[in-house]
Amino acid sequence: MDTKALLLDTVAQHRTEMFKAEQHIFKNAETGFREWKTNAYMTEKFEAMGYTLTQAGNIPGFIADLDTGRPGPKICIMAELDSLIVPDHPDAVSDTGAAHACGHHAQCAALLGVAAALKAPGALDELSGSIRFAVVPAEELIEIGYRESLRRQGIIKYFGGKVEFLYRGLLDGVDIIYMVHTSANHPGGFGISPGNNGCITKNIEYKGRAAHAGGSPHRGVNALYAAQMGLAAINALRETFKDSDHIRVHPIITEGGQAVNAIPDRVKLESYVRGSNLEAIVAENRKVNRALAAGAAALGAEVVLSDRFGYMPLQNDANLSKLALECMAQVVPEDKISPNEPWSSGSTDMGDMSTLMPVLHPMVGGACGVGHGNNYRIDDPETALVKCAQFQVLFAHKLLSDGAKAAREVIAAKKVVFSSKEEYFAFVDKVAMDKEGAVYNSDGTITLDYTNL
Ligand SMILES: [Zn+2]
Ligand SMILES: [Zn+2]
Repeated sequence: MDTKALLLDTVAQHRTEMFKAEQHIFKNAETGFREWKTNAYMTEKFEAMGYTLTQAGNIPGFIADLDTGRPGPKICIMAELDSLIVPDHPDAVSDTGAAHACGHHAQCAALLGVAAALKAPGALDELSGSIRFAVVPAEELIEIGYRESLRRQGIIKYFGGKVEFLYRGLLDGVDIIYMVHTSANHPGGFGISPGNNGCITKNIEYKGRAAHAGGSPHRGVNALYAAQMGLAAINALRETFKDSDHIRVHPIITEGGQAVNAIPDRVKLESYVRGSNLEAIVAENRKVNRALAAGAAALGAEVVLSDRFGYMPLQNDANLSKLALECMAQVVPEDKISPNEPWSSGSTDMGDMSTLMPVLHPMVGGACGVGHGNNYRIDDPETALVKCAQFQVLFAHKLLSDGAKAAREVIAAKKVVFSSKEEYFAFVDKVAMDKEGAVYNSDGTITLDYTNL
């Protein structure tokens, strides 16, 4: 049997185990940085296959390496552990509301098939370089308060699981990363888009002065109206956003006043500024901050602007896409492959990885319902698990066979955004800011201070 047939066959032999894993993890959903049971389950399965794991330790997740014994690049195959919170999902965990409404459980189940196949005797005979499996926590950017508390305790430094893995050195030496995400839009097949948006996350707090709203409003400074001025200014900016930058600004008011008979002295907003490229995100975020600061100045209020880098825009590597399409066509009929999906305006921490190395984040069918909704589930496990895993092993073979020629070419052609992870983290850290947007000077002038970089 040739190696590719061996790989495909071994995945197929693990069908039942993958199906069971999909069901088990689906019914035991856990949100980001809380995936301890899921991590224990994946750990047990990987160890049973003979892998030696390096656990992240104080957060869920692990890596496991497979070396061909021949020199060459290191490719990393990822699966995400975390769920969302969708309390009215029929399979939500009752006390936490956690539900796998984004299908990450299927990534984990499929990865078991991939890991089994690549461990089969003879599977690596034609390959060079090495393979790292990374089972990562916390892709969904949710429960920010909980993550902030982990950050304050020194447990994590970054909110995204992959970013945290990168920070901890668990991805050091990796040259290429790929993973496959389930989708309800590609029944029986696969889809690849050029990428998706990145984002800056924002917390905004307007501070005014409380006063009796009926008796003496002239003695107050209305923080709600200052916020409204800021929001109106943002909305007026929308016509200046370039279509090609896919900018999304979607603020909410999380605290709009304390008592109806008092002038609101504290109003809180949250927002993202999303966009398709780093320059645009930073530039438009600066304008948004200027608008927010000007809203404060208009009313004589204060505003604290708190920005954190969310996720980088994802650029699916065009050369990896081309190679992936060939492998997909060996697993499903060509008319089930959608090679030119539109740009997506969501965000993922795979984007961060794509600023440093070639990355591919394609979609596989097999799910139904609305992503992040209460009816999302896997209805075609043959596609979501078996075909998905078969694609992944063929892709590893494609990249690392023939002296890892394809992987080497992809790496050589990649134009990185940051030349090292240090440079990447320096940028991410520089975007983080907490500053007074409107500064009242002693000479009566007002300084608007709103730039991150
Ligand atoms: Zn999601
Ligand atoms: Zn997802």
